[in-house]
Amino acid sequence: MPICRTCRGEYSAVSPSRPSSGPSAGATAPATQPAVCPRCGSDLHAWDRLEITLPDFILWEGGILGLMPAALALAAWLFFWLPREASLYYYPILTFASFGVCVLLAFVIYDDPLSWWERWWASQVYQVRRVPIVLLVTFTALAGIFLSALWVLFYATYGKPDDWLGKVLFAFIYVLSYVCLTLAITLAILHQYILRLEKCAPPPIFTSTEKLLRVVVDAAIHDINLPGLNRRSAAGSSALDPVYEVLQTLRIPENGGIHVLLRECKRVQYPDADGKLQSKPMEMLWRVQADRWGNVQVLRPGSLEPYSAERRTFREIGRYSY
Ligand SMILES: [Zn+2]
Repeated sequence: MPICRTCRGEYSAVSPSRPSSGPSAGATAPATQPAVCPRCGSDLHAWDRLEITLPDFILWEGGILGLMPAALALAAWLFFWLPREASLYYYPILTFASFGVCVLLAFVIYDDPLSWWERWWASQVYQVRRVPIVLLVTFTALAGIFLSALWVLFYATYGKPDDWLGKVLFAFIYVLSYVCLTLAITLAILHQYILRLEKCAPPPIFTSTEKLLRVVVDAAIHDINLPGLNRRSAAGSSALDPVYEVLQTLRIPENGGIHVLLRECKRVQYPDADGKLQSKPMEMLWRVQADRWGNVQVLRPGSLEPYSAERRTFREIGRYSY
C-alpha cells in the first residue's frame, strides 16, 4: 500500500468508475492515486514530482556528481600511478579502497534523502540534534582540497613511501582526501534537494499542531467507537451519537508527539420503572497520547489535570536558511 510522505499513513488507490457501455466496457480500469491523503488531507500529487528512487536521484537530481571523486581515484591510478610506479599492490589497493569507500558513502547518503528532509523539519520543531549540512559541506570540501594537496606534495617531495609508517600515513591521507571530497559533494547535492522540498513539498504533519490534532482525534474517536461502528454507519447520525470536544492539547517537545484530552458527551438509554425507554446525558473524558506522525499510543479514561508552564514550551517553526 502506498504511504503518504506527509503523515506516513497508508492510503488505498482509487478505482475509477467503470463505463457501462462502449468499447472499453468490462475492461478493468487501473486504480489511480487519490488527490489528497484521506488521513491528513495533504496534496499527494505534489509528491509525484518530488519523491524519487535512488537511480533517479543519481541521474536526475545531480547525484552522479557525488561519484566524481570515486571516478577521479580510478583516473588517478590509470593516468598518474600506472605510468610512474610499477607497484603491483600498493597503488591498486589505495585505488580500490578509495573507490570502494567513496561509492559506498555516496549510496549510504543518497539512500533515503527524504529522511534528511524529515530530520531537518524535526530539528525545527522539537528537541532533536540538528545536522549542520552547510557547515559539513564547507569543512569537508576544505579538508578534501587540503589533503589532496598534501599527498601531491608528499609524493613530489619524497616519492613513493618506503617504510611501513610512511606507507600507512600516505594511504590514510590519500584515501581520506577522496572521502572528504565525496562527503562535500554528496551533502551539497542533498542540501539542494532539501531546499527544493522545502519550497514545493507539504511539510511533515508534526510541524502543524492543528493537522496533527485532527488526525489524532479522528483516530481516537474511531478507536473509542469500534464496537458500535457498524451500527452507527448503518443507521447514520442520530441524537444518540456521541459528541466530542477537545479540552486540552499539549505537544511533547522531546519527541514531537501530542497529548490530547477529549470529552465525549452522549445520551445513554435505560428503561424506567414502567418499562419505557428513557435517556440521560453522560460525559466521559479520554486522555490520548500519540507520536509525531499521529499514531495513537495511549488511549485511556482521563481527567482534567493542570500542566506546568515549562512543559508546554514548543519551538516556533523556522525556515531552511543559514
Ligand atoms: Zn497523509
